[in-house]
Amino acid sequence: MKMLETGTTRRTALKSLAFGAAVLSTPMIMNRAAHGKADFLGASVTDFHRFKLGGFELTVLNDGIMVTDGPHPLFGGKQPSESVAELMRQNNLSTEKVALPFSPVILNTGTELVLFDTGNGESRRGGGVGRLGDAMQTAGYTPEQIDVVVITHMHPDHIGGLMEGGAPAFPNARYVIGEAEYAFWTDDARASGPTEGLYKMGQSLVVPLAEKMTFLKDGTDVVSGVAALEAFGHTPGHLGYRIESEGRQLVLTGDVANHYVIGFQKPDWGFGFDADKALASATRRSVLGMLAADRLPFVGYHMPFPSVGYVEPINDAFRYVAESYQFDL
Ligand SMILES: [Zn+2]
Repeated sequence: MKMLETGTTRRTALKSLAFGAAVLSTPMIMNRAAHGKADFLGASVTDFHRFKLGGFELTVLNDGIMVTDGPHPLFGGKQPSESVAELMRQNNLSTEKVALPFSPVILNTGTELVLFDTGNGESRRGGGVGRLGDAMQTAGYTPEQIDVVVITHMHPDHIGGLMEGGAPAFPNARYVIGEAEYAFWTDDARASGPTEGLYKMGQSLVVPLAEKMTFLKDGTDVVSGVAALEAFGHTPGHLGYRIESEGRQLVLTGDVANHYVIGFQKPDWGFGFDADKALASATRRSVLGMLAADRLPFVGYHMPFPSVGYVEPINDAFRYVAESYQFDL
């Protein structure tokens, strides 16, 4: 404007402005070009999430995420695939692929380190899962420090990490498992037929540790402040765990719900790996209903990492609400 006022022709002024603009913008263009050459670093993977619960400290560990075809028919197998696809679209999720996260937990009671479930382990390592050891290391723990290993149930994504190279992965630990769960999977009746693979896995990963194992029933304490919670159906002896310290409570729900949308919004739709579909649905409704009614936080093994959330009752079902700052205050 000043140049125009001092008698410069409009054309010259525009030229000057254009030139000025070019001079000014050149370094910016160069900067942009230089920044554009930064390497792609790959999608980030978070190893752990730690928070306090009363006098306890919990660390959720990321064993990884498995991506597979679905969710139908793995989830909602008895429903028309279009019904499952429509629910996915309503929730901004893929109708072609489904991601299954795996989230073991370390509880530090102040006197003991308790690990709940062991991830997929070496047999599935690679492909983004079986990361528990790496995640533990980043979180500041060694396998030798683990005092107690608690198993919710004997599926491969929970017991896979018990052994490493033929030896116990947590060499100083004692073990805790549901009495009914252990009895079911180690019964010789499971040695052939559809249960053969899981029977063999139990024989190689769990049975060798039996001498150091405690077998739980509903309500039995694992350590002071941690009690078993019967949640049968997903497997015949599946257990969740109630954790309480200084009046703060949280529940580890294991595999009560295996997808944060389907398990909550359609608790009766069924999951392919639920052993007893009707009982699993009933347990899902009762445990999620209890969490909703009591407004309790929970860690769900297959919830989106870091897998800590609340249950909101909605219509005749539920909604998963991820934790935000409730543990930061
Ligand atoms: Zn599982």
